[in-house]
Amino acid sequence: MLDNTGRIISWNMSAERMMGYGAKEVLGKNYSIFFSKEEIRQEVFIKALAMAAQKGGFTAEGIRVRKDGSHFWARVFITRVREGKRGATFFVLVTQDITQQKAREKKREEYIGIASHEMKNPITTLALYSELLAKGLQLESDKKNLHMLRDMQTQTARLTRLVEDLLVVSKLESGTLELRKEVFNPSALVTMVIRDFQNSAPTHKIICKKGTLGFQVRADRARIVQVLINLLTNAVKYSPRSNKVLVRVGARKNKCIISVEDFGTGIGKKDQRKIFTRFFRGDDTAVVDVAGTGLGLYISREIMKRHHERLTMKSVVGRGTTFSFTLSSS
Ligand code: ADP
Repeated sequence: MLDNTGRIISWNMSAERMMGYGAKEVLGKNYSIFFSKEEIRQEVFIKALAMAAQKGGFTAEGIRVRKDGSHFWARVFITRVREGKRGATFFVLVTQDITQQKAREKKREEYIGIASHEMKNPITTLALYSELLAKGLQLESDKKNLHMLRDMQTQTARLTRLVEDLLVVSKLESGTLELRKEVFNPSALVTMVIRDFQNSAPTHKIICKKGTLGFQVRADRARIVQVLINLLTNAVKYSPRSNKVLVRVGARKNKCIISVEDFGTGIGKKDQRKIFTRFFRGDDTAVVDVAGTGLGLYISREIMKRHHERLTMKSVVGRGTTFSFTLSSS
């Protein structure tokens, strides 16, 4: 237990076993002694305590240092406790050693990285040969087999996207996603993406409204295309009763703002906070019927974060949703 300034006022046996210090050694000391130098510099503990004081509780993960200097991964729960209405405030702090769990997660991420990388080649070969086969069947006017082959190609394309998503996720998790920034005209890029995308979305008219933009932007072109395609795909997927999607390219000061608006199901308040988390999918029946992995928005937001740019969302249930992101001038 800690007092309201973060000083240790009680210390149990489990804490002793975990940290290596006996009660006599730590009582009265500030809890920040268990933090790494870097975390002390960033005032992690002071901020965590302030959050717990304000909100009543706080959870965080970080590195803690034992008496013998060894480190471990900790998950910490801080709960504010008040003695009566005017009584003193103190905090109950529970620490879990999650080092093994973190190591398992890392292994799993590595495994996903390797597996998705290895899957890329065979899928590419499948896609190439089925395209060749389709050409042959077209020449022979074999409609029945061509129809089956087209279904196979649709599924191969899905598999390609899935593997690509998994690969990006594993790179994001391991911090190895490299951005290849270049200078380009965002309006031209949007036009090109919409032209290609429109072919695969015959149910919706993708309308583009462009403002005047007096500058170019600097970003990873291929990744920005990926974000745009994710947003366009969602806009079409989650607006089955509408027939248009509106894309806007505008500018505010030295930032270009690109938005994708749909007139579909919208996203309920409860889900709005979660849609950018990994594997999250809305559980409305409307969403369950639509194929997906819950990775698209997570990937998109992470890509924008790596660019130090923002991806935001506004939505009204039954009316539609607008996703917007920024790009900085070069
Ligand atoms: P996926 O589409 O594969 O489920 P995403 O990460 O792209 O994964 O989206 C996560 C969830 O956010 C979706 O399952 C859906 O519930 C919601 N969502 C995303 N885009 C929209 C949209 N344009 N309109 C309504 N809901 C959306």
